[in-house]
Amino acid sequence: KKRLLQELKGKENVTLDGKKINLYANIGSVSDVASVLANDAGGIGLFRSEFLYLESETYPTEEEQFKAYRTVAENMAGKKVIIRTLDIGADKQVGYFNLDKEENPAMGYRAIRICLDRKDIFKTQLRALYRASYYGTISIMFPMIISVQEVKQIKQIISEVKAELDEANVPYKDVEIGIMIETPAAVMMSEELAKEVDFFSIGTNDLTQYTLAIDRQNPKLDNIYDSHHPAILKMLQMVVDNGHKGGCWVGICGELGADTTLTETFLKMGFDELSVSPSMILRVRDRIRNTDTTK
Ligand code: PEP
Ligand code: MG
Repeated sequence: KKRLLQELKGKENVTLDGKKINLYANIGSVSDVASVLANDAGGIGLFRSEFLYLESETYPTEEEQFKAYRTVAENMAGKKVIIRTLDIGADKQVGYFNLDKEENPAMGYRAIRICLDRKDIFKTQLRALYRASYYGTISIMFPMIISVQEVKQIKQIISEVKAELDEANVPYKDVEIGIMIETPAAVMMSEELAKEVDFFSIGTNDLTQYTLAIDRQNPKLDNIYDSHHPAILKMLQMVVDNGHKGGCWVGICGELGADTTLTETFLKMGFDELSVSPSMILRVRDRIRNTDTTK
């Protein structure tokens, strides 16, 4: 079986009836790029940028971030690299942020909420990302979105960053902008949100937690934390349809994307992309190539 999977390197992610889908990888550090390439992923669908903040004693500088993003973009040699902006808070605490202890951190001050409140931190990351965009194909993705208003604020800050870079004659490329759909609010607003961005990537880990009201970290609830719940599957279809209506491509970057018992379902729903851990790329490719969506 192992040898057979190896033979799938260089092959297309195409179903028996000719339907194609992008298969990208999720990573959490610069060194993970080696396994992305070794497993022949078509790109990086989720680069969690938290490592830069977690591994540092204080706020990572623009230069440090620029170097990390540029290295990944260059190593991927033109393939798409979707970098997610800071998603700390909740389960990922960083001392120097001096965040207050919260009763309910999963629903607290985290991710984009911190970034829109502490614009200095956000702008430093965005500047580093835009500077790095010149060296490859970078897309930027924003976590924990609940409203169109947030996306409009983000776009305003991006236009400020671009104006600053223009002013300083710093080169950058066009960058695709996307959001994670990982709150029920984002699902319900997906028709409106699709008009604002280029793509959606569904974070099924958090979406399951918030939809079922089940803490994703509580081992006592593992047996009922069910990403196959019909409520979740209905949401996935709704997001694909609303995304496509608004001209967005739509993918999954939560763990569910690698669940091969659902690969056929995802293809039939019309997903454009699945982003999975590097070790799952060939197994999902195998499933895709053995699927006939007309049956
Ligand atoms: C998710 O919530 O599904 C996701 C991909 O993000 P994270 O697991 O980093 O919260
Ligand atoms: Mg998440």
